[in-house]
Amino acid sequence: MTRINGFVGRRNLLKLAGIGGAGIAASAVAGVMLSSEAEAQTTPTTTENKPKPVSPDEALKKLLRGNERFIAGKRANPNQSKLRLLETSVAQYPYASILGCADSRVPAEIVFDQGLGDLFVVRVAGNVASQTAIGSLEFSSAVLGSQLIIVLGHAKCGAVVAAVKGDPLPGRIGVFVEEIKPAVESVRQKTGDLEKNSIIANIQYQVRKLPETSTILGKLVNEGKLKIVGGIYDLASGKVTLVT
Ligand SMILES: [Zn+2]
Repeated sequence: MTRINGFVGRRNLLKLAGIGGAGIAASAVAGVMLSSEAEAQTTPTTTENKPKPVSPDEALKKLLRGNERFIAGKRANPNQSKLRLLETSVAQYPYASILGCADSRVPAEIVFDQGLGDLFVVRVAGNVASQTAIGSLEFSSAVLGSQLIIVLGHAKCGAVVAAVKGDPLPGRIGVFVEEIKPAVESVRQKTGDLEKNSIIANIQYQVRKLPETSTILGKLVNEGKLKIVGGIYDLASGKVTLVT
């Protein structure tokens, strides 16, 4: 078996990663993929439960339609049945990835009205493209075949507010705040509300950072197999508005 989710084989992934066939990183990636392969071989699967990857534009439309249902108070709660639970216990084929803030008011599956196995969600305060977040998104995009990443920020984001203030912070809170500061500095002189401008600038900054700092994501974007967009979530209306 050379393809996972009909998308990229182990050899291709190693090529994408630029790490060849040797080294710890390569072994780790191969290990993950081999275990997926073993799982697929021991569990009979049909064509139906191996969906083709959803194109970036289709994925975006699907998410925005789900958000419209959420705003209208007409959630369909798709893919949450017992059958879906069993289906997804065999394998996962998420059609989109989210890099969202950890804020308790912005749960991706609820605001986009999606279910089990639909979204690969990475949440971290300030929706920052940290090393571990990038690694997770490389996995969802190159291995699982998700072709869309939405960086999802939101109004009144405490992480961005902390970066605007710039006060010293205890423990490791300052770690993610540091990753937001370049975005804040880029709009500090701009007219208007600094907090609002910074929240949007941070989303756009993290969107740019993903393909710039990840060879795997950059290559997929160049090949048209991945789109990375930014959206801002309004806490009161529930609406996601694209900002890139
Ligand atoms: Zn936040």
